[in-house]
Amino acid sequence: MELGVHALPIDLSSTNPLPDIEAGGLSYEAMAGGGMPYAEGGAVYGRLWNPTVARFESALARLEHTEAAVAFSSGMAAMTAAILATTRETGREMGRRHIVAVRPLYGGTDHLLASGVLGAEATFCTAEGVAAALRPDTALVILETPANPTLELADIRAVVEASEGVPVLVDNTFATPILQNPADFGASMVLHSATKYLGGHGDVIAGVIAGDREWAAALRRVRAITGALLHPFGAYLLHRGLATLPIRIRTQQANAQRVAAWLSTHPSVSRIHYPGISGDSRGLLGRQMKGTGAMISVDLSGGLDQARRLTSAVRLFTHAVSLGGVDSLIQHPAALTHRPVVQEARPSPGLVRLSIGLEDPEDLIADLDQALGQALTEIPAQALTTTRHPAPAAG
Ligand SMILES: *Cc1c(COP(=O)(O)O)cnc(C)c1O
Repeated sequence: MELGVHALPIDLSSTNPLPDIEAGGLSYEAMAGGGMPYAEGGAVYGRLWNPTVARFESALARLEHTEAAVAFSSGMAAMTAAILATTRETGREMGRRHIVAVRPLYGGTDHLLASGVLGAEATFCTAEGVAAALRPDTALVILETPANPTLELADIRAVVEASEGVPVLVDNTFATPILQNPADFGASMVLHSATKYLGGHGDVIAGVIAGDREWAAALRRVRAITGALLHPFGAYLLHRGLATLPIRIRTQQANAQRVAAWLSTHPSVSRIHYPGISGDSRGLLGRQMKGTGAMISVDLSGGLDQARRLTSAVRLFTHAVSLGGVDSLIQHPAALTHRPVVQEARPSPGLVRLSIGLEDPEDLIADLDQALGQALTEIPAQALTTTRHPAPAAG
């Protein structure tokens, strides 16, 4: 309303006219410190502030029930900023350099933490092992629920309580703010790979972290220094995508429930990983996560060979990494998204992950039916090559 337009504008200006040295300088200083621009001083420079990005951030913060949100150029840039904000920024005086991370995690996050490239030391544990993994210098606890790719649910409130005041970051990419709001259960920061469901159309790479004003300021300071910005066009697409997020999630979830029910009785599927089918011993469905989501993983009784043939035989599904879009995707985590993860924590070679889109679920089932039929017939197997220096994980 205050912009005088109905559709959202895209503000592309990289620099902005300065009224005078004093007001411009004060605005610069406010933003470099993680705050808002001064009205009299303007936004100064696009690395400090952009109105299109700020509008998306406010919308996402409202969806996640937090005071603020900060957007980044990718989910991994967002994760990097959270690690730097807690270990280098706020944790610096206390010498806090330690991170506790609950496995399983997205392969790229696991790789980032295990590599030590940001100067932080990580201890990996289970959700029940968080209290025992804490150290006096722990700066951050990282949790993913549902986890990628096993779709295990973890109790956010229990992990927050076990963390004894150490901030907990929850990666909410798989659930989206439609199905789960981790801040309501005590999470300090809520991260999304916005590349996935928030964008929803496979045409933006972005990340965002929702949290209170103080965390947002720390994250903005890191973003201003490191420059891991979200381009305004990406912010525009993400903001536009939020309008259809609830109906996309509802329909994709309904489709996934159909496909999961069919897969769960298929003779080639030895185990299905889908909230609501694979068990919810802690009673988190409904209480913490409002739905079962649209991601499914299956263990194939024919192992890697069958996974290779299935992913090559699908026609309606696209064999591709990433997830959360309107088009259904299928991929093999051990070879692709979780390739950089150490052997003992890598998903099993017979596991494939499906991201269910907006197609007719009967068409998706027909495609899996024909592809699994083909997957039973013998095709010469090629060895899965492993590399000693893994490339960065893909979505
Ligand atoms: C894809 C993904 C990420 C990384 O996000 P990018 O946008 O690819 O950098 C982080 N967490 C989860 C759960 C993901 O699926």
